[in-house]
Amino acid sequence: MKVGIIGTGYVGLPTGVGLAELGNDVICIDREPKKIEALKAGKITLYEDGLEELFNKNVKAGRIKFTTSMKEGVEDADLVIIAVGTPPHPVTKEADMKYIHAAATELAEYLRGYTVIATKSTVPVGTGDDIEALIAKKNPFANFDVVSLPEFLREGFAVHDFFHPDRVVVGANTEKARNVIKELYKPFEGKTNMLFVKRRSSETIKYASNAFLAIKIHYINEMANFCEKTGADITEVAKGMGLDSRIGNRFLNPGPGYGGSCFPKDTMAMAYMARQNDVEMTLIKAAIDGNVKRKKEMAERILEMVKGIEKPRIAVLGLAFKDGTDDCRESPAMEILGNLLEHKVQVTAYDPKAMGTACQLLGDKICYADDMYQALEGADVLAILTEWGEFKTLDLAKAGSLMRHKNIVDCRNLLDVNDALRNGFDYQGIGKKAVKADVDLRKAV
Ligand code: NAD
Repeated sequence: MKVGIIGTGYVGLPTGVGLAELGNDVICIDREPKKIEALKAGKITLYEDGLEELFNKNVKAGRIKFTTSMKEGVEDADLVIIAVGTPPHPVTKEADMKYIHAAATELAEYLRGYTVIATKSTVPVGTGDDIEALIAKKNPFANFDVVSLPEFLREGFAVHDFFHPDRVVVGANTEKARNVIKELYKPFEGKTNMLFVKRRSSETIKYASNAFLAIKIHYINEMANFCEKTGADITEVAKGMGLDSRIGNRFLNPGPGYGGSCFPKDTMAMAYMARQNDVEMTLIKAAIDGNVKRKKEMAERILEMVKGIEKPRIAVLGLAFKDGTDDCRESPAMEILGNLLEHKVQVTAYDPKAMGTACQLLGDKICYADDMYQALEGADVLAILTEWGEFKTLDLAKAGSLMRHKNIVDCRNLLDVNDALRNGFDYQGIGKKAVKADVDLRKAV
């Protein structure tokens, strides 16, 4: 199938590469000439496990091409996928539709023959109708259908999730459009759940899913606060809860709050849509407010550890919003750092993949280390903010020898509390009692 993909970001690029790998002829379109120049030169523009190898393979095979020209990408396509951003509107916090509307308007004049336009961007309910109207206005003779095809990939696992989706949701209002999408997903037949629903249901499924996951994270974070006060251990509590198949064991890891380019904006957009429709959604509102508060609380924890130290130095491990990605958009680490920097502290940070993207956001406000041990030199506290597996291998004896004071705030519960105590650290994890080396060492096992 000939597929044009508008938007070559964290969704568009892995989708394009995946569809090329399945044998489709793919053209990725982006309005950022720098991005397209890099991709044309064979340079991948974002980090995703396994993406570079597949990208190189499919570029070499001539199955995927890159362009800034909407005409080139759309005129021969059987299917055009829209994967542009839908960021929060700066004032109302609803999904800002300017990129979607621009893409729909720009593509309209190049449609030739019957074409399916599918939105993979996360879009408010009713967007399919808006796109239809925009295209029909610009090109009254166009022969097309608009389909909602929400994307559920997880950053860090985008390639895996492309080839092993939990489900494919298709919101199509015509049989003809449904058949085009069925053809596209033929390689997945019998291997995944294909759900064909009304377009408006499909648009809603995406927001309803993300809001639910955000609420689940918020819930376990509140339960972690409870455990800290009562002497229970959230790791044990979450394990016990997760064994109930009605609850499930995923998304029960407490941490510094949810982040990334989806949950914060999608919860706000869902709350906005609910208000517009006079529907009260108290859980989503609680999750949004609680998540903002959470990141402030994490910064306070870190500052508490260095209270009384003159010109404190903070070593931060982890800048990306989660492991497996270089994406720092709405990363809890970025917000916690913003809070810390208001208190005249010196921060040195390290992240295995996100140094470049973090530097674009933070510039010279912090120092950047080449590895995790360099970040610790002369530090008064170590704050772990992203759950990279690499940080679990930290040699705490070596870490202690490099630091000025032995304090750890482990916002991802990556380190072993007993190991920390044995190496003389005061340690605060999430959802478990904070421990002090001079008081609690004898309890270490
Ligand atoms: P992104 O910012 O990484 O990429 C969007 C790209 O679209 C940019 O490269 C931008 O230059 C390009 N673009 C914008 N307008 C354009 C136009 N008119 N013509 C051509 N190119 C244009 O965004 P993303 O993270 O890939 O997210 C895209 C959409 O997918 C959003 O709606 C998001 O909510 C949704 N989504 C994202 C994820 C994720 O994990 N990132 C997962 C599921 C769904």
